[in-house]
Amino acid sequence: MFKNKINLISDTVTLPSKGMLDAMINAKLGDDVFREDPTVIELEEKLSGMFGMEAGLFCPSGTMCNQIAIKGHTQPLDEMLCDINSHVYQFEVGGYAFLSQIAVNAIQGNQGILTAQHLQDNIKAKQDWLPRTKLVVLENSGNRSGGNCYNLDQLKEISEFCRNNNLSLHLDGARIFNALIAKNLTPIEIGPLFDSISICLSKGLGTPAGSVLIGKKDWINDCRRIRKVLGGGMRQAGILAAAGLYALDNNIDRLREDHSKAQRIEGILKNAEYVESIFPVETNIIIFQLKENVSPQNFVDTLKTHGINSSAFGKRSVRFVTHMDITDEMMNEVENTLSSFKM
Ligand SMILES: *Cc1c(COP(=O)(O)O)cnc(C)c1O
Repeated sequence: MFKNKINLISDTVTLPSKGMLDAMINAKLGDDVFREDPTVIELEEKLSGMFGMEAGLFCPSGTMCNQIAIKGHTQPLDEMLCDINSHVYQFEVGGYAFLSQIAVNAIQGNQGILTAQHLQDNIKAKQDWLPRTKLVVLENSGNRSGGNCYNLDQLKEISEFCRNNNLSLHLDGARIFNALIAKNLTPIEIGPLFDSISICLSKGLGTPAGSVLIGKKDWINDCRRIRKVLGGGMRQAGILAAAGLYALDNNIDRLREDHSKAQRIEGILKNAEYVESIFPVETNIIIFQLKENVSPQNFVDTLKTHGINSSAFGKRSVRFVTHMDITDEMMNEVENTLSSFKM
């Protein structure tokens, strides 16, 4: 019998829904390099407005948004502080060095969460022989830290520290809406705490591609030139921006469903004899460590024979990510397979 593949590899694997495709087909288009695509402008204004920011910049990917932000906030010989598990440090090919010629100090946070104390302990003195600490990058929710999130007080404390110490503060908000839902916060409560935020539309929000960088108007104008030199100036990009607008209207609140599915999986894994430990599940990401005698690759391969795709994450861990294309029937299948799995 044909079995629908159950893909828990990432929330990037979703396919555009019928409603989203309709919105894309009907989008008003123009050449965005000349700032003549009304749909791109609408998306940039809408998203920046939601977070209380002045302007936005539509980019092909979240990586490009982060890298443009890093370049926009720094000069060569500056230094960036971030968590050791952060995407900008681990998964963006060392772009901070390649594109911005800066140093990085990757801090061991509390499972992806940094505090003002971490920053205080790591900010460098102003000496000719030291890189100049200039930028702090936070990630919320933290991907490699099991999807956990900052609460408002933690963000406020860091924001205040950065302002008092002349540090720019960028948020890698690839999954910011998951984080806001988990912590019961609104965009406007956190936006003003940052100098810039990058937001992915192609993760839980379900568009085929696209991310938006938001910040101050003049700064975003500089970033548009950086986007151009990176080859990220797109012409009739409104076809993608329309998917983003559709996602903002239709796919934010439903992220709760992904979170509750992730919690159901967490419930099973907590009691499973093959699991050593599991990061507390706050959003749609589940990262767990297997017992010594189970190799993550074997585990992932076995699940695959049951039609479930997932990824081995590091030497002992496995990651599942729930998303809008995981149906209730698929969830039953996942729950049955995980409950009956034998080492
Ligand atoms: C996915 C992701 C990004 C950017 O990803 P792209 O694949 O380049 O769009 C950035 N940060 C985090 C935390 C992510 O999970």
